[in-house]
Amino acid sequence: MPQYSPGDPLPGPLPEWFPRGMALLRDPSLNKGSAFTLRERDMLGLCGLLPPHVSSQEEQVERVLENFRRIDSPLERYIMLQALQDRNEALFYRVIMENPDEMMPVIYTPTVGLACQQYGHIYRSPRGLYVSAADRGKVSSVLRNWPYRDARIICVTDGERILGLGDLGASGMGIPIGKLALYTSCAGVHPRRCLPVMFDVGTNNEALLEDPLYLGMRQRRLTGGEYDGLMAEFLEATQEVFPGIVVQFEDFANHNAFRLLHEYHDRIPCFNDDIQGTAAVTVAGILSSLRVTGGALRDQTFLFLGAGEAATGIADLLTAALVAEGMDEVSARQRCWMVDSRGLVVRSRVTLAEHKRPYAHEHPQVQDFLDAVEILRPTAIIGVGAVANAFTREVIETMTRLNERPIIFALSNPTSKSECTAEQAYGWSGGKALFASGSPFDPVDFEGRRFVPRQGNNSYIFPGVGLGAVTVQASRITDSMFMAAARALAEGVDQADLDQGSLYPSLQRVREVSLQIAVAVARVAFAEDLARIPEPADLDAVMGEQMYDPAYISYVG
Ligand code: NAD
Repeated sequence: MPQYSPGDPLPGPLPEWFPRGMALLRDPSLNKGSAFTLRERDMLGLCGLLPPHVSSQEEQVERVLENFRRIDSPLERYIMLQALQDRNEALFYRVIMENPDEMMPVIYTPTVGLACQQYGHIYRSPRGLYVSAADRGKVSSVLRNWPYRDARIICVTDGERILGLGDLGASGMGIPIGKLALYTSCAGVHPRRCLPVMFDVGTNNEALLEDPLYLGMRQRRLTGGEYDGLMAEFLEATQEVFPGIVVQFEDFANHNAFRLLHEYHDRIPCFNDDIQGTAAVTVAGILSSLRVTGGALRDQTFLFLGAGEAATGIADLLTAALVAEGMDEVSARQRCWMVDSRGLVVRSRVTLAEHKRPYAHEHPQVQDFLDAVEILRPTAIIGVGAVANAFTREVIETMTRLNERPIIFALSNPTSKSECTAEQAYGWSGGKALFASGSPFDPVDFEGRRFVPRQGNNSYIFPGVGLGAVTVQASRITDSMFMAAARALAEGVDQADLDQGSLYPSLQRVREVSLQIAVAVARVAFAEDLARIPEPADLDAVMGEQMYDPAYISYVG
């Protein structure tokens, strides 16, 4: 069945299947609510089903905002926006796109975390697809139940490590749903092209297993061959049912995240945002910092607090960038050092997870992060260990003694886990720090200057990467695409941003920046012979035309 919705080109004469009357008002991809014109109401069987006044979309936005702002509870705001998405998709996206600073923390972190914790309790209506342990042998038929044949990007989680909240099993479904809403709002990937998937292999969370309202499989997690077999069947089915569809792995625990990426990145178009998206957004922040310091990437030394998916992903991308500049791989990896819960990651440590080994250098053991700063003299410290307040006054003062402009990224989420606050970073460094954070911080006034810190938010990267990859039908998603995305994002930062200490552009400009990222990713796809469409003469224009616009179209000409 052909499908279209607001944001598509004018459909011409309406086909037989086009819903009318109440069925039309109940279809969120077509519904305009009180904005149906009198002529549409006349021709589509809507007379009497709506209040007489014909609203503009602007009026509807105003009504939504008024209702939204009357609600104090973030979770209730989340529920309200979900209801809007289930009722009128175009209006939902219009509201989010016009108010990103206010809406993104509700549809994504931090509120989506609360929503996942309560998922079985706040569940209203189905959204996305569940592939579960009970579907072994028939996963492709489950995928075929999805109503839209033109799905082009899947975001999938197995719910084992949802944000910093641990194993939430099938309640993790809020994450792919939220993430895909960002693909549409930040980069204009059409909602119909986005498919959220919950890969439900059970949960080891006792509280959920005992919760009568829990909606997932009531069993302990599949592991080993059973897990791998179901995942292989699922990934194979994605390519069979939706040829060339991009798969984004999201919030998988370390032991599966690295393994799955390693195993599949050369076989299907896939990536892991926790590893690669984080890497690109952080590298972009570093490139912006270097515009201020005037330093070269090859002269930096990075010290990470944390050695998990984020740290390894960032270090891998930095290594790839340095190798591309002509440095040998061993020397490039030597630029990155990591401190985990047992101290500095060094070669002599006996038990080290596989993903940490490339960064385990020959060096005596150092237990304390401050000592590591003194000894290694980093130009940048990057906090991704979720250890609150780990960047102490001494750490930041030492960094400021060692560097004219120390790069200090406190990326751990949520705010309560941040390694330091923006105020501490600017205050303790005497206004010298080049600061970025994982959670939002308000502007800081220090000695007559106003600093506007910005979030190293993955939403700057993955939507643009997705738009680019989907538009050119990339057969693989490569590190060079993420590096191109990082460079495009850094180029989107203007001098006025840098002057106020902002290492990222404002979220208000995210669509414009995403478009540039998508174009940069597409160029890499063409250069690396990974695109499955001929290269268009005007790539920028073609990419721009792909972007979903939530403005209503007329259904009756
Ligand atoms: P992860 O679980 O893969 O890694 C966490 C790492 O921290 C592990 O290596 C662990 O050994 C280390 N660690 C734990 N306790 C420690 C301690 N006391 N001292 C030093 N290290 C310690 O998680 P991740 O995906 O790498 O995410 C880590 C943090 O980064 C989270 O808070 C997450 O919210 C944040 N993050 C931010 C962004 C962003 O801002 N764009 C993106 C991704 C992750």
